[in-house]
Amino acid sequence: MSSLLIRDVAILPLDRHDRFIERGDISIVDGRIASVRAHGEAHDHGAPTADRVIDGCGLLAAPGLVNAHTHSPGALLAGTMDTESHPAFMWLNQADTSGRTPHEVYVSAMLNAAQMLLSGVTTAIDHFPAQNFGPEDIAAAVRAYRESGMRMVLAVRIFDDTFGDIFPRDMQLPAGLAAELQRVAPLPPKPLPETRELTEDAISRYHAPERRLSVFPAPTNPVRCTDALLEMSRDIAARFGVGIHTHLLESKVQTRLAQERHGCTMVEHLERLGMLSPKLSCAHTIWIDNPDIERLARHGVVVVHNPESNLKLGTGIAPIGRMVAAGVTVALGSDGNVTNDNQQLHEAMRLAACLGRVVEPDRRRWVTARQALAMATAGGAAAVGLPDIGRIEAGCRADIVLYDLDRPEWTPVNDPVRQMVFSETGASVHTVVVDGRVLVEAGRITAFDAAGVLAEARPMLAAIRERNRDLYAFARRMGELFP
Ligand SMILES: [Zn+2]
Repeated sequence: MSSLLIRDVAILPLDRHDRFIERGDISIVDGRIASVRAHGEAHDHGAPTADRVIDGCGLLAAPGLVNAHTHSPGALLAGTMDTESHPAFMWLNQADTSGRTPHEVYVSAMLNAAQMLLSGVTTAIDHFPAQNFGPEDIAAAVRAYRESGMRMVLAVRIFDDTFGDIFPRDMQLPAGLAAELQRVAPLPPKPLPETRELTEDAISRYHAPERRLSVFPAPTNPVRCTDALLEMSRDIAARFGVGIHTHLLESKVQTRLAQERHGCTMVEHLERLGMLSPKLSCAHTIWIDNPDIERLARHGVVVVHNPESNLKLGTGIAPIGRMVAAGVTVALGSDGNVTNDNQQLHEAMRLAACLGRVVEPDRRRWVTARQALAMATAGGAAAVGLPDIGRIEAGCRADIVLYDLDRPEWTPVNDPVRQMVFSETGASVHTVVVDGRVLVEAGRITAFDAAGVLAEARPMLAAIRERNRDLYAFARRMGELFP
């Protein structure tokens, strides 16, 4: 048994009592919270002891945040794009993430983890996006997750149809480019049996939520998948008791494609396929109307809001206020570093609260700070299918972030929830604990050699672009078709 005590700390438990403890102790045994004790409570029998004691004086303990949508290969790509259209952006991202070595996959996942840990994210869904990846790439990502100490979901990104949403719809490809498409063959889908084997093998080998790692089948987007692949994902999820993760209705053209392919909305189609359930989490979900919002609520589907990515790409403002009012569970994501060039969930929380306000005249329907914080904690817990994270309560996993209150943005402490959402940037993150293990201390990563990861990451993108120069040139020309 190993034990950790965080003593004399302010606590924002986000539990069912929704209280704020100005000073108390959190006792952790074998990765779980054993007790949360406010000083002066009736059962306060003096300070408990532990193998390790953290003095929490001047610190605020809050639940670790859940980043319910990221792409770890994007970690190398901060600052690579600006005003490109969604299709241009997808093509260039494809060229930058294709054909990586397992070591590049590993370093990128470590770099992504470093960014998340330093801003208080303790759990994430990695919608693993390298094309044509194999078991060796999955193994490399898993090694990174384990070494980072974070709690992770490996969402095995799969597809078996064309990316119709990023091909021009009102013109033929110019002859030269069509020939180039044949030659470069940038997005070749694997045969379905191979995809099934890859996914099932990853789940059998690595899915172990009690050891901080879950594995989900993760169709890239239903408009890029056949019904056979979607049904396969549904059946694998049922058989192994895991979740499903996907992108959904991120760009307007995807709504049109669904109508053309299925004669109904994509949400209706997913309902017919029996895909809608609390196991399903859908990133973006911007282009959706009220009947479909009610459908998602009825089936308990989790929507993962990525407000910064949506803003950077100009893809739209997701109707999050309407979803919350309809009873949809909402989680938050940063998306990959190429569409939102950091992994900070405090920014996502702030935008989740504020963004919808400019288009909603009825202030009773505005997302509150408390609701935005719930999205990054309880909502994220629902997305990853772990009911015992997202709050500081006896029996829960000990995923805890300590914020330094001795900083200007926390002075004075007027309202911890509002300041967490509207003031905090992630810069006050002092200590990060995952599963009872300390991964960050005094604002520095202690779980692994972060400086070594950065040094390895620095020259990597140049090497990848050199290796993928044909694909990169092709992607630039495809992107130019979407000014
Ligand atoms: Zn994404």
